[in-house]
Amino acid sequence: DTQHSAAALEAAEARTAHNYHPLPVVLANAEGAWMTDVDGRRFLDLLAGYSALNFGHSHPRLLEVAHAQLDRITLTSRAFVHDRFAAFTAALGDLCGKDLVLPMNTGAEAVETAIKVARKWGYEVKGVPADRAEIVVASGNFHGRTTTIVGFSDDADARDGFGPFAPGFVTVRYGDLEALEAAITPHTVAVLVEPIQGEGGVVIPPTGYLRGVREICTRENVLFAADEIQAGLGRTGRTFACDHEDVVPDLYVLGKALGGGIVPVSAVVADRDVLGVLKPGQHGSTFGGNPLACAVGTAVVEMLSTGDFQQRATDLGVLVRERLEALVGHGVVGVRVRGLWAGIDVDPAVGTGREVCEALMERGVLAKDTHGSTIRLAPPLVVSPEDLAWGLDQLADVVAR
Ligand code: PLP
Repeated sequence: DTQHSAAALEAAEARTAHNYHPLPVVLANAEGAWMTDVDGRRFLDLLAGYSALNFGHSHPRLLEVAHAQLDRITLTSRAFVHDRFAAFTAALGDLCGKDLVLPMNTGAEAVETAIKVARKWGYEVKGVPADRAEIVVASGNFHGRTTTIVGFSDDADARDGFGPFAPGFVTVRYGDLEALEAAITPHTVAVLVEPIQGEGGVVIPPTGYLRGVREICTRENVLFAADEIQAGLGRTGRTFACDHEDVVPDLYVLGKALGGGIVPVSAVVADRDVLGVLKPGQHGSTFGGNPLACAVGTAVVEMLSTGDFQQRATDLGVLVRERLEALVGHGVVGVRVRGLWAGIDVDPAVGTGREVCEALMERGVLAKDTHGSTIRLAPPLVVSPEDLAWGLDQLADVVAR
């Protein structure tokens, strides 16, 4: 029965800008890995809010913390200090092995923050001449939707029609260390890359790439800014995707799961010699580091500190890999898996990624296409192996047709 859905869909589309093309489902409730729509139909969530829901919907511990905080104090602005701030910055700094934390809200804001910090570091510490700073980025990147960030995207949809763009960015091929090295000049202040490209389709760079980026940055006195917004915080089976190569960037750029799926929380985490370049008045955010965000963010970091979620991502990822690799040649032309995160290139003969996602929806599975023929799976890390296997069965059936 879909009687309420149709009306709710129409109403939802009527008064919004059409900057999204959502699947035609109107959700009303969710718990763990399952969501329920306005007609009571249940769906297995294989997207987890693009990794923002790594701990699943309505995680009891996160809800408890959020509810308790709602009753105490939710917003002070950073004009005043609140009693949830220190615990959050200390916990997140420790998780990252870094001195300082700069909290923001959305991922794009954290990326913008990293860009500002890197430039200021470049001028004040490295000695780059004023307004000449360069930041090297990768082809196929996705770092958010602000004007500066889309200016160094190579995705026409993200970029076209939004110029003029900020100068100071140089793009090199993702995964290509020689190109990266060649792009570095005395004015280079940072290399900004995703350790795995999420929106790009879960694109995993060649083994040794992150280590190579680290080595080049160290040698050339350039900051390595790792955008771990989608890849980090347990998704890949490690706390950070950079951990797979035992690499520590100079700046961790974090978001999504840091807010536990409850409140937007992002952050830039770095040592004092880097983040220390910012002085009062030079950067900020009304909501960044608010008490509710800090309470939830602290609980998120505590949950990650045991390693249990990371282990779950590793274990479930083995299942995902086995099942997906078996589909290659059966409606799927390629798969990439790291932890509980997968990019699946659908055989164009089967249909578009969108069509596959629509067929999955009919079977009670929600996933999202990216770049035409790729489907990204990022189930909540709390999904049960049985539910996950069932979801993958649905995918196998859909692409086999
Ligand atoms: N960076 C990466 C790697 C992302 O995947 C995203 C979002 O998908 C962002 C930045 C932007 O985050 P937000 O949408 O919270 O601004």
